[in-house]
Amino acid sequence: MRIQVQQVSVPLGYDTAALQQRVSDRVACLPSQISNVTVVRRSLDARPRNPAPVYVVTAEADLALDALPQNARQPGIECLPEGGGVPEERQVLPHAGEPRPIVVGAGPAGLLAAHTLALAGARPILIERGEDACSRAPKVARFWRDGALDPESNVLYGEGGAGLFSDGKLTARSKERGRIREFMRLLHGCGADESVLIDAEPHVGSDRLLTVVPRLRERIVEAGGEVRFLSRLETVIIRDGRLQAVVVNGQELACEHCILAVGHSARDVYEALAAAGVALSAKPFAVGVRLELPQAAIDRAQYGRFAGNPLLGAASFRLTRRAEPGVRACYSFCMCPGGTVIACASEPGLFTTNGMSYSKRSLPKGNAAFLVPVDLADYPAHPVSALAGVAFQRVLECKAFAAAGGRYAVPAVRLVDFLARRCSAELPADCSCSPVVPVEFRDLLPEPVTHTLERVLAPMLKELNGVRLDNAVLYAPETRSSSPVWMVREPDGASAGTRGLYPAGEGAGYAGGIVSSALDGMRAAEHVLAALAAGS
Ligand SMILES: Cc1cc2nc3c(=O)[nH]c(=O)nc-3n(C[C@H](O)[C@H](O)[C@H](O)COP(=O)(O)OP(=O)(O)OC[C@H]3O[C@@H](n4cnc5c(N)ncnc54)[C@H](O)[C@@H]3O)c2cc1C
Repeated sequence: MRIQVQQVSVPLGYDTAALQQRVSDRVACLPSQISNVTVVRRSLDARPRNPAPVYVVTAEADLALDALPQNARQPGIECLPEGGGVPEERQVLPHAGEPRPIVVGAGPAGLLAAHTLALAGARPILIERGEDACSRAPKVARFWRDGALDPESNVLYGEGGAGLFSDGKLTARSKERGRIREFMRLLHGCGADESVLIDAEPHVGSDRLLTVVPRLRERIVEAGGEVRFLSRLETVIIRDGRLQAVVVNGQELACEHCILAVGHSARDVYEALAAAGVALSAKPFAVGVRLELPQAAIDRAQYGRFAGNPLLGAASFRLTRRAEPGVRACYSFCMCPGGTVIACASEPGLFTTNGMSYSKRSLPKGNAAFLVPVDLADYPAHPVSALAGVAFQRVLECKAFAAAGGRYAVPAVRLVDFLARRCSAELPADCSCSPVVPVEFRDLLPEPVTHTLERVLAPMLKELNGVRLDNAVLYAPETRSSSPVWMVREPDGASAGTRGLYPAGEGAGYAGGIVSSALDGMRAAEHVLAALAAGS
């Protein structure tokens, strides 16, 4: 009999014998009656009030008994169906027709959409404006070193999308367990660590993503897909509410089904879609700063006396503050433990910040964005249109570029100076990114945002016991945490009013983060497969 047992506590360095012992304790049987134990989910519990840090796991095992012992008939212990359940089936097309479906954008959404279509025999063409991951990496390194921006191949554009130079956190809030499992298995099959299959908060790290993503592309090609780099979608051609073609590098490609997974940095695509009459709508989003702290201080705050245990890894945090009269809500976002703050740009003269880390998360600083919501009322200077949020982002990014000397240096201020409303006389020598330039942040960010940050940052950091404000450095502006636009969709995944066009991923405004964008790409592909099967 195969059983599943939840909430099993095991020491950090557990082995099979320890796991077997703990599972048998829970099931009230002998360890010898338990075999083939596997962990299917694992979360770390290192709260300082515990006697020792532990993993709390969900384990599956074979039980050499005909029935669960009486004591084991309790919530969290259950028998699994014979054969482990029926595998999910996805439609396979009887034959792939012409024109082939096109997927635009090789970020998480586009890659997963293309992979799903290719496995179903639909022979998709995946077009990507940037370069493959290997060619992209040196361009990005040069940008960080010399400020030389390639507007088509950079931190945000190219194979792997915005997620390539990232922490590679695979946080999943979705309840779609099947799709999440499928995505994690695919990543693991392409070289991601086994922990992505079981950890509650898995991460891959930018160094590993640089090998995982090209393997994923190889799988798309092996399954009959085609991938074209340095191929930029310029516009879409729509006739009578139906997609007819896409224009790529000046050439028209006939196309009846196109998944648009261009991310939310592709402002030229938003503009082209607006001009082509595609339904777009302004979406509230959030802007703010990136805050950096010594990782050792974060570890001490989160792990207490366990800090420094090499099995624990770098600690992370999540902080939120509700809105109060006169002060907006604020939340930490995209924490990168043991990582680095990075400069990002995809258009000349505009600058934004973000964070990334490597698989070991072993750098001496940790950073996270602290964001404050903004909406249409904040950008009255811009025409009230679907792209008003984009115009607002551009103004902030342009100011930041100029304030730091027009060379993609990172505007920075010590937190204590920000709170005292002054520019830092000097910045710490060990900032994780360079070059950094001291800047007065009140000139960079909208007043309601600086006002909120001024009021809430210190109380929020108080929740991290022992973290010192004079050790914190702020970088700005953080403008690209989510899409400022919705590409409005119908329930069947198609663009409202344009048959054949399927907006997907973060740029469509319905997803945010690597996992949610990847899942959205899979769903978009399923919609296209359904349309192809129905001949519509
Ligand atoms: C530095 C950084 C760190 C991040 N860290 C994390 C993290 O740790 N965990 C997490 O969950 N999320 C993270 N994110 C967010 C995450 O990367 C995005 O949510 C995710 O990549 C969105 O996926 P997407 O496929 O929808 O779009 P994108 O990843 O933006 O991909 C869009 C792709 O479309 C291409 N494209 C754009 N326009 C065109 C065109 N006209 N023609 C052809 N191709 C085009 C782009 O070049 C790009 O490759 C991070 C983002 C950044 C920038």
